Amino acid sequence: MSDLSSDLPAQLHTLSVSELVQGLQNKQFSAAELTEHFLQRIEQQDSAVNSFITVTPEMARAQAKAADTRLAAGDAPLLTGVPLAHKDIFCTQGVATTCGSKMLKNFVAPYDATIVAQCREQGLVMLGKTSMDEFAMGSDNESSYFGAVHNPWDTARVPGGSSGGSAAAVAAGFAPIATGSDTGGSIRQPASFCGLTGLKPTYGRVSRYGMVAYASSFDQAGSFGKSAQDCAYLLQALAGFDSKDSTSVQVAVPDYIAELQAARQSAGDKPLAGVKIGVPSSYFTNGLSADVEQVIRAALKQYEDLGATLVDIHLTDTDITLATYYLLASAEASSNLSRYDGVRYGYRCDNPANLQDLYTRSRSEGFGNEVQRRILMGTYALSAGYFDAYYVKAQKVRRLVRDDFLRALSQCDVIATPTTPTTAYRIGEALSPEQIYVGDVYTIGVNLAGLPALSLPVGFDGQGLPVGLQLIGAHWQESQLLQIADGFQQATDFHRQLSPLAKN
Ligand code: GLN
Repeated sequence: MSDLSSDLPAQLHTLSVSELVQGLQNKQFSAAELTEHFLQRIEQQDSAVNSFITVTPEMARAQAKAADTRLAAGDAPLLTGVPLAHKDIFCTQGVATTCGSKMLKNFVAPYDATIVAQCREQGLVMLGKTSMDEFAMGSDNESSYFGAVHNPWDTARVPGGSSGGSAAAVAAGFAPIATGSDTGGSIRQPASFCGLTGLKPTYGRVSRYGMVAYASSFDQAGSFGKSAQDCAYLLQALAGFDSKDSTSVQVAVPDYIAELQAARQSAGDKPLAGVKIGVPSSYFTNGLSADVEQVIRAALKQYEDLGATLVDIHLTDTDITLATYYLLASAEASSNLSRYDGVRYGYRCDNPANLQDLYTRSRSEGFGNEVQRRILMGTYALSAGYFDAYYVKAQKVRRLVRDDFLRALSQCDVIATPTTPTTAYRIGEALSPEQIYVGDVYTIGVNLAGLPALSLPVGFDGQGLPVGLQLIGAHWQESQLLQIADGFQQATDFHRQLSPLAKN
């Protein structure tokens, strides 16, 4: 904090969460000032990014005022007054939750998602709801009904997806942290494209109650921030058992922030001595670009310099995980999205001729192409003649993939891979659906296995675009993952680089 100069207000969006917490507690700035700073940035610059679907200035100002009252009283929860943005997949009482779809364009949930309520109770200030690929199906945010989102590092490029709005908002300095959801990579991949740290926790760590379902056995909420430490702060607010979500698990939630601090304090000149990092050769193929590979190899070398040991491990072929994921996720989506029938809520077509016409047209007009494609694929895989051949078989493969990860993780502490085969591509450049799916090749295995994983920025390609390294941990080991990412960030400054938009 000592180097915070007199032009502090202009820099507020570049501060870490820990600096924001300190600044709020020491009354260097108020929650109201902080909130105003971010609201102003959104208003002035989001037209170039399109990261928010809904901005909630009045609600944010009221929450900031309440935060200042709590801070003045002196017993406020740690994150009181820190602003954040929520992905528009989380239900927010009284504020639209669109899931990036025409289907839910006018949907206002009658309740808050558990994590939205938790963040509010802990004093975080919601700035608004961020854009996403429709129903979280996608990898570049181009399928959002509300238009493409632009990458703050190069606005001609995609920010990744499906949580592209959250990633772009943090990278542009419109919010210090944001929530996202990750079913097959939707936190890690946009974190990688936008130069952020993004954490997908263990399946069951964070409540799914009030998160619009895509593929329920994979979906998991998590955090975006500039650093592993930022992600630790937000995870602390999100994690925990919820009786309203039958898949949330009752395991103790560690004090991520204190454990990170303790790891820093006990670090010697080889801070990661003793850490074993597994490197699977099968994750260095499948169209990995030479630029990305070079940056990833340099990051692994840096890990060795910090005291870690690299070990060769074997993991299931990524082609197999890719096919298994797309089959199972589509099957679950076809079932989950059957609730949008034009009757109960969501989009309804005009002047239906009869009930069949109402269903058909509401769904054909309300859903975009990619969502319809997945519903069709999933329905096919679940249909009577093909259920055993596709769905049941994919479930068996899923189990083998999980076992394979667990075996690999018995030989190392974490697994390191590239997060994505390429850096951010150009908007409109896309790519057939299959080519887009292949971009998820390194992230989806983690979701099949329910493991925690994060992406951290470790360098730039030849065009100055960020490259992310993925670290995968054993179930419930988010704390260790965050520490291993933090060890790298303590020794490097890739996570401190600002996108051109955040510099303004
Ligand atoms: N890109 C993947 C998909 O389209 C992952 C999406 C996600 O994690 N929500 O399914």
